[in-house]
This record gives sequence, C-alpha cells and structure tokens, in this order.
Amino acid sequence: PTMAHSKALLVLENFIDGKFVPCSSYIDSYNPSTGDVYCRVPDSGKEEVEAAVKAAKDAFPIWSSKSPLERSQILNKLADLIEHDLEAFAQAESKDQGKTITFARTVDIPRAVHNFRFFASSILHHVTECTEMPTMGCVHYTSRAPVGVAGLISPWNLPLYLLTWKIAPAIACGNTVVAKPSEMTSVTAWMMCKLLEKAGVPPGVVNVVFGTGAKAGEALVCHPDVPLISFTGSTLTAQRIAEKSAPHCKRLSLELGGKNPAIIFEDADLSQCIPTTVRSSFANQGEICLCTSRIFVQRGIYSEFLKRFVAEAKKWKTGNPSDPTIDVGALISKEHLEKVKNYVKKAQAEGARVLCGEGVDPLALPSGNQKGYFMLPTVIAEVKDESCCMQEEIFGPVTCVVAFDTEEEVIRRANGVKYGLAATVWSGNVGRVHRVAHRLQSGLVWTNCWLVRDLNLPFGGMKASGIGREGAKDSYEFFTEVKTITIKH
Ligand code: NAD
Repeated sequence: PTMAHSKALLVLENFIDGKFVPCSSYIDSYNPSTGDVYCRVPDSGKEEVEAAVKAAKDAFPIWSSKSPLERSQILNKLADLIEHDLEAFAQAESKDQGKTITFARTVDIPRAVHNFRFFASSILHHVTECTEMPTMGCVHYTSRAPVGVAGLISPWNLPLYLLTWKIAPAIACGNTVVAKPSEMTSVTAWMMCKLLEKAGVPPGVVNVVFGTGAKAGEALVCHPDVPLISFTGSTLTAQRIAEKSAPHCKRLSLELGGKNPAIIFEDADLSQCIPTTVRSSFANQGEICLCTSRIFVQRGIYSEFLKRFVAEAKKWKTGNPSDPTIDVGALISKEHLEKVKNYVKKAQAEGARVLCGEGVDPLALPSGNQKGYFMLPTVIAEVKDESCCMQEEIFGPVTCVVAFDTEEEVIRRANGVKYGLAATVWSGNVGRVHRVAHRLQSGLVWTNCWLVRDLNLPFGGMKASGIGREGAKDSYEFFTEVKTITIKH
C-alpha cells in the first residue's frame, strides 16, 4: 500500500453547508481489485459532525416549508444529473467497492437514480386520515410534518444505492440530513455532493460527513439535535447504535443482516430456479443482505439439483471487475476476504463437502489483480444446521446446500436462525407457496423469483434483521411526525 502513495491519490472532502471542506486527518481507502490505496477519506469526528448538524438545523426551516412539489422537482433534477453521469458513477463504484462494472452500471447507479425519481413522485401522493364524530360535533384529522435533522448511516456493499434510498425519502419529506457513508466506499457519495447545487438543493439540506463508524458515526448517533437515525449495516453495529441513542429516545430504522433461505420443492421449475439461485447466492460477490446462503432442496431432486447448481456456479467468471464479461469481482477488503475464507475452512473441518470454488478450483487472475481480494463462488454441501456456516451471515460468495423431506420440517429449519430478512420459495403448487410464505419468519418472501422489488411496498427484516420498514408509505411515516388534530364546531 505504501507504494501507491507516490501516485496521485483521490482526496475526498466533507460536504457541509453546501461547501467542500477539508479535514484535519484522513483514512486510506483501498481499491479491492488491486489492493492499492487509491483514495483518502476524511477521518471526521465530533467537530465535523457538529458543523454538519448545525448547517442541517439552520437549513431546516426553509426546506421544510417548501411545498412537496418544489422538493419533488429538485429531486427529479438530481436524478437527471446522476443519470447523465451514470458511467462515471458506475466506474467509481466498481473501483471503490470491487463490484463488477456490469453490476454497477445495471443495478447500483440506475437504482440510485430511481430512488430520487421514486420519492419525487411518491411524496406527491400521500393522503392523511380524517374521521368524523357527528354526535360530538367533531372532525379529527392527521397532519404530518418532517422531523428535523435526519442522521443517515449506510454500509459498503451497495454504497450509493443504499445511501440514496435514505436521502431521497428524508429530503422529499422536508427533513435535512447529515449522511455518513461507509469509510470503505465514500467516493460516489462525494461525487453526488458535487451535483447538489446544480440540482437546486439549498446549502445545508444534504450534508455528508465521511469517516469511521466509531468516530463520525457515533458522533452523529449521539448528537442531541439529530432526533432520527436511519441505519443499514450489521446487527452488531445496530445494537451499539440502539444503546447509544437510547438516552435521547431517538427514532430508529434498522436494516440489518440476513441468513436467507431458498426452499426448493420437488415440483420447482429447475430451469428457472437454478440460474436464479446461483444469482441470488453470488450476485455482487454475495455481498447483498438479500443473498441466499442456505439452500434447502427436497430429497427427491437433491442430487440432480446439486449437479446442475454446481455446473451453473462454475460458469460464473471471477476476475477484474472493470472487465464487462466478469461476473464476480473483488470482495470489499483483505480482512473480509479472510473472514469469508475462514468460514469455508470451518465447514471443511466439520466434515462438510466443498463442491466448487475456494480450495477446490484454481483461481486465475490477471497480472494487475494478483493482490486483489478475490475468491471463487463456493458451494458447500452436507453442512449441519447448527454449523456457523448455516447460522452466521457470511456476506461473501459462499452458499450451503442441504436436503429436506417435508414441508413442516423445512419451515422449522428455515426459521431456525436469528435472522429474518428474505426467503425464496420454489414450487409450482400455489397452495404450498402460500402456506410456506405465511409461516416463514422473514420480512420478504419471493416465490419463483428473487430480488423483484416494488419500492411502494415495505422492505425490512424481522428478528435480528431489523426494526422498521422502508418503502413509499413506510419511509414517509418514518421520516415524518404525525399529529392528530380535533376540531369541534
Ligand atoms: P457495519 O455495521 O460495519 O457498518 C455500517 C455503517 O455503520 C458504516 O457506515 C459504518 O462506518 C457505521 N458504523 C460502524 N460502527 C458504528 C457505530 N458504533 N456508530 C455509528 N455508526 C457505525 O456494516 P457493513 O460491514 O458496512 O455492511 C455489511 C452489513 O450490512 C451486513 O450485515 C449486511 O447484511 C448489512 N446490510 C443490510 C441491508 C438491509 O437493507 N437489511 C442492506 C445492505 C447491507
């Protein structure tokens, strides 16, 4: 890494009150596909967060008094500007995160654009409630108002996608924000800041403070003038955030980890199911909270499924993320790669069989990527349900396949983890799909598909996967404070 310092590094600055401001210290940020430091990210703390919160607080009266239509037009303009620079954003996201350029071009950045357009539209269509009490001569109605300064904290796996999924509803509702992206993937947030003025976002409405969770994140969580925190990240961090914000009784939305099952019944259409389940296991290197990592296959089709699934997984090419023919890019960091690989070792030590990928197949990388954080899509079979590989979130290109016999049994086993984010059910029997979906402890259940989202509907997890939901109505409710008003004639 030290060698890379001699090259011109990209240096990011915080964005506070409509201006870029340098920071007194910086953190190195790595290019995961080469292992080189290529960027320096502000190592912000209390002081920077204080300045950002003040700017957001000062901007609140004007921004919150604009009409939804005025805010909507600004959000649409911002969407257009990001879309105009889509290729530059995609290149930056791929370089910063390790994800393939194809994924960044087709998923991350288009979704960031769509997030702004979606909330620009949905904010125009909310209606509040009204009831009448004729005998009392009263009408009651509800009114909703923005909460104030929203603290937004996002992870490294889908950087701009998840950050804008918070910024868009927060500002559409009239809040002002202080956002803290992951210190490992800050570049696209910084690029977005450059477009805010042109889009017409007034200074102070969106402030971005870069830095670590422990310093910048915690300063935001603990700030008394930030009444609301929307967080996406790990369950462990969420526990810490809940603890730190408890003295202030903050409003929290927590989108956390998953250990998502796919349940494949004997009557499933395997020609659809297999490619989709390979994708749900390995898309974005398995670094999506919704990725499948426990595949339950009914006994009668178990061997056929395994054979075809492994053959399909082997088609996924791992390598330089900027090559558009590559399916699997680099993992986020050296430490994360080690952690993911260790799960494979633990499974082997417990007697499970690794059918392809890590430790089984050779990984050939281009000369420029030898120090990158790569691993092959890995399929493990015969893992016990109580193994850490079946219980803990691995968050890498590793998936476990096990057999089951009955519907009753598979529901119990699928629910037998602390998480409850997303599940997938494959069957041609609509009655069964219905029954199973109802009994799964999971915020989302996809049947005969994966990752098909209507942003209107609630998104979020049960159990250790989170508290609260996001979506058109849910985000609106979270980012506004409701009041019930009664009028007597
Ligand atoms: P993380 O919890 O380590 O970090 C998330 C963010 O929180 C980062 O910006 C980090 O700097 C910050 N942070 C860390 N400690 C903090 C603290 N004490 N106070 C305030 N902020 C702090 O998570 P990660 O490793 O960046 O992301 C991966 C995790 O995110 C996985 O568990 C994944 O499942 C989860 N995730 C969930 C969803 C969802 O919608 N449910 C989506 C994507 C990722």
